[in-house]
Amino acid sequence: MIIGILKEQQFNRVSIVPSSAKKLKALKLEIITESGAGLQSGFGDHLYDENEIKAVSRDTVLTTSDIVVSIAPISDEEMQKLKKGALYISMFAPYQDPEVVSKLQKYPINVVSMDMIPRTTLAQSMDILSSMASLAGYKAVLKAADHYNNMFPMMMTAAGTIPPTKVMVLGAGVAGLQAIATAKRLGAVVEAFDTRAAAKEEVMSLGASFVEVEGAADDRGAGGYAVQQSEEYLAKQRALVQERALKSNIIIATAQVRGRKAPLLVTEETINHMKPGSVIVDLAASTGGNCAYTENAKTIVKNGITIVGNSDLSDELSGVASTLFSNNIINFLQILVKEGNIELNEENEIIKSALISKAN
Ligand code: NAD
Repeated sequence: MIIGILKEQQFNRVSIVPSSAKKLKALKLEIITESGAGLQSGFGDHLYDENEIKAVSRDTVLTTSDIVVSIAPISDEEMQKLKKGALYISMFAPYQDPEVVSKLQKYPINVVSMDMIPRTTLAQSMDILSSMASLAGYKAVLKAADHYNNMFPMMMTAAGTIPPTKVMVLGAGVAGLQAIATAKRLGAVVEAFDTRAAAKEEVMSLGASFVEVEGAADDRGAGGYAVQQSEEYLAKQRALVQERALKSNIIIATAQVRGRKAPLLVTEETINHMKPGSVIVDLAASTGGNCAYTENAKTIVKNGITIVGNSDLSDELSGVASTLFSNNIINFLQILVKEGNIELNEENEIIKSALISKAN
């Protein structure tokens, strides 16, 4: 059975790195890669070759592989080239667009969407969303530091004392917690907001303070995700965010509610009153952003405030992001492939959740 790696058209990452070859071979899979697939993440064809992964054309990967892997979904035209009964593994985010699944059903292939892996302890090693979010949280702080015209730590010099930078993190999930840890390491004073009760302890354990807004909707039973808050709650939260934002220098915005538009937490009014020179990095940009002025995949300046809208910051750490992505895929394949054969055992909760379309 052949597994084929595609070169990403819009990302620098690659879905499977050369060092994963050993584990794939242990599953009795033969591996091919599209030539140049890993180049942008530091894995040239020669590294794949050293691991007995042959570089071939894109068309060969599409038409001869039994399992095809890519990070971003391929086009409809390319979907038609996949072998009948093949397994295609990618990230379709069906919770953002419910029509994705019905569109896939017209193809005679099995489709796994890695972003549908449940957030359970057992599935943690396959959780691509967490891997990418923690890298994005780290990179968001570096990005903010780069755009910022001051430094993060307090410094006492003969020429005067420099106060520490104040960082506010909106949403203390996977990305937010990593942003808090990174900002703390750089010497900033950090505070964070989240609606989930569980987040408070995690924030405080990283040495940041937690800003509480009373009256959050109960999120028990939401699988670790946040739930939609009432307009009354959000209005109260926006007012508190504004109060804190005027004292902050950096905002790292990561607040999301799965399957919905990101909550608006930093209003136009807030930005119009913030200190010029402040920086906002909005990781929720692709789902509308937490900040009123955010433009997805763009960096803009409003009222002297730099606003970076980017939900794919892990792609700027393409080497490590590819390695983690690859590890997640291999861990998933280990429950899916037995002795070189794909077993779509839907009694397994992880496989059942991730398999979003089946070959007829
Ligand atoms: P996410 O990207 O969907 O959301 C980011 C954060 O925004 C979340 O912490 C959420 O509570 C918060 N948020 C939503 N609305 C908000 C608002 N109005 N104000 C402030 N914050 C708001 O979530 P995520 O980071 O992918 O995951 C969230 C949580 O899920 C994790 O912290 C963890 O507890 C759990 N999780 C569990 C596993 C596992 O067990 N395998 C894996 C990953 C995540």
